Amino acid sequence: MAVVLCSWGDAIDGGTEEALTLARKLAAATGAQLRWLVLGGAAAAAVEVGARYGVDRLDTVPGAGASAAGPDALVATLADYCGQTAPRAVLFNQGAESRVIAARLAGRLGVPVVANVFDVEPAGGGQQVTATAFGGDTHAVYQVDAPLAVLSVSTTAIVAAPATAPSTVAQHSVALTGAAVAERFAVTASPQVAEARLEDAQIIVSGGRGLGSKQNFELVKDMAAALGGMWGGSRAIVDDGWIDSSHQVGLTGKITRPALYVAIGISGASQHMAGCSAAKTIIAINKDADASIFRYAHYGVVGDCLEILPELIKAAKA
Ligand SMILES: Cc1cc2nc3c(=O)[nH]c(=O)nc-3n(C[C@H](O)[C@H](O)[C@H](O)COP(=O)(O)OP(=O)(O)OC[C@H]3O[C@@H](n4cnc5c(N)ncnc54)[C@H](O)[C@@H]3O)c2cc1C
Repeated sequence: MAVVLCSWGDAIDGGTEEALTLARKLAAATGAQLRWLVLGGAAAAAVEVGARYGVDRLDTVPGAGASAAGPDALVATLADYCGQTAPRAVLFNQGAESRVIAARLAGRLGVPVVANVFDVEPAGGGQQVTATAFGGDTHAVYQVDAPLAVLSVSTTAIVAAPATAPSTVAQHSVALTGAAVAERFAVTASPQVAEARLEDAQIIVSGGRGLGSKQNFELVKDMAAALGGMWGGSRAIVDDGWIDSSHQVGLTGKITRPALYVAIGISGASQHMAGCSAAKTIIAINKDADASIFRYAHYGVVGDCLEILPELIKAAKA
């Protein structure tokens, strides 16, 4: 019996170590083997990461193109893998794409799926799964009574914990069908990402409606540049047309985990915090001392950001 984390792509995504931490917890509690199925170029780096997180077996798929597979091929490949290996639980590091793949895989296999998962433990013949709901405001506990459950893991709510001792990772090459499946949807255009990804940034300066205007938002960009970081914003200002949605942080935007997150004129709604609460340090500037953001911030400044920001930019540039 195995607990499996499924990954794909050319690099190991942020959040993978957190997902492995949860997978290892379930595997240990059920006496199952911890397996990691990695499709694509990321497999090369997975051995070292897998060893640190106690992975027993790393499964890779021979042949080129696995990382370039579209969703239909991916679902078919993963369904084939589950058919061959009969795991107890299949976990995904939740992102916009994997969330859909997880649901489709569960549909294909006829098994339950839970999204936004941050904890799981065995219960009865199945497992008790805890997930966030309503944008993180609520925790829901599900009793999943099925031999196999698909779990889409919200990794911002998990602290990565390497195994106490590294494991010896057995590497297996698994022959899977599915890569040749014809895609029913074709991507005809996708956004050109010229700069680094917000998800990978170590320093993010984000602004919200408290900036007052699109013009004032330039201060956020200046502050980000002065700190050598990237800039983001809340959905409120995306909706108001100040910035485009590729910079939106939050539940329906980018899930980030920087070393430093500076939130300026942002109220701290749960849907925004879903995209930044995993930051190691959060600094908030807000004129309302009772703003929710101060519940999350490690350092807070109560004041008018339009007065404070120019001074901070000057200081950061000095
Ligand atoms: C299903 C769903 C999904 C959502 N997804 C997201 C998401 O992905 N990302 C996201 O951000 N939101 C998301 N939202 C919206 C979210 O609930 C909030 O409405 C949004 O985050 C608020 O943005 P804000 O903090 O910029 O604005 P506001 O809530 O208007 O807050 C502005 C803040 O600025 C402060 N302020 C005002 N003037 C100043 C000043 N001069 N100096 C300093 N501080 C000042 C105020 O005190 C206030 O706290 C979602 C909502 C739903 C329902």
